[in-house]
Amino acid sequence: MCKNCELKPVVFLTNNTKGLCKSCFFRYFERKFNKTISQFKLIEPNEKIGVAVSGGKDSLTLLYLLNKLKDKRRFTIEALLIDEGIKGYRDKTIEDAKKFCKDLDVKMTIVSYKDEFGYPLDEMLKKLKMKPCSICGVFRRYLLNKYSRKLGFDKIATGHNLDDEVQSLLMNQFRSNPEVSARLGPITGIKDEKKFVRRIKPLYLLLEKEVATYTFLRKFEIKFCECPNNTEAYRIHVRTFINNFESKFPGTKHSIINSYLEIMPMLKEKYKNVEEIKYCKKCEEPSSKDICQACEIRSKL
Ligand code: SF4
Ligand code: ZN
Ligand code: ZN
Repeated sequence: MCKNCELKPVVFLTNNTKGLCKSCFFRYFERKFNKTISQFKLIEPNEKIGVAVSGGKDSLTLLYLLNKLKDKRRFTIEALLIDEGIKGYRDKTIEDAKKFCKDLDVKMTIVSYKDEFGYPLDEMLKKLKMKPCSICGVFRRYLLNKYSRKLGFDKIATGHNLDDEVQSLLMNQFRSNPEVSARLGPITGIKDEKKFVRRIKPLYLLLEKEVATYTFLRKFEIKFCECPNNTEAYRIHVRTFINNFESKFPGTKHSIINSYLEIMPMLKEKYKNVEEIKYCKKCEEPSSKDICQACEIRSKL
């Protein structure tokens, strides 16, 4: 029987021997989502929130829930999709994202690498001897920030879930990069820095498995395809490692996040001056160096 009512359980959560029925799971999931927004003060009334959508399960769940919450919390939303130009992958997920936004009546803007930098990612990979994700990650962050500002977003919400954050924290720990971990957390960026739009992660306290279950039970039409360039081997090793550990010792992922949240203010304080924000001499976007990483890569194309 369901932990909260008398219906048949369909989901079993970590550390719970009893499961939840469909409607109790929806209530649990949505409450946690709403609580994350309140607890970390992710959204203020009257803000315009950009939602970074890719067409995958995390971003569409994020869009669906923010859309559901917007009137109650008095904020507005718009979707922003970055089209990297990856044949057989992004072209498919874009269609799902378009349909989803149309059904919810949410405005969506698409910005492509081809229009902005002259080539789709597939072409860039033929020209540059760099790892795909190193190019792609830099350009995506760059465009998300630039267009969030252009479109007047107060903040940009991304679909990062608890698993994503745990993996990043462990990677930084294993590679001795505490200053990179200092830039993580449910809300990032600098408050009064006008050129840098703050990022929020409302799915921060939800496991990937829970998001996948939510999309499945809500019957969202999503193609579960992976990027063919997803060869970030180190992250894949860390993901396998932590998933194995979690199955042997349930609750480990939550413990890692809870410990991090406790030390996060100290870590942010310690590294607050490390990355002084400058502006790129070529494009005037925020950068930690004189020339931003996006302009550096662009110059090699
Ligand atoms: Fe870009 Fe790498 Fe993600 Fe593919 S896996 S979309 S190349 S960052
Ligand atoms: Zn129930
Ligand atoms: Zn630049």
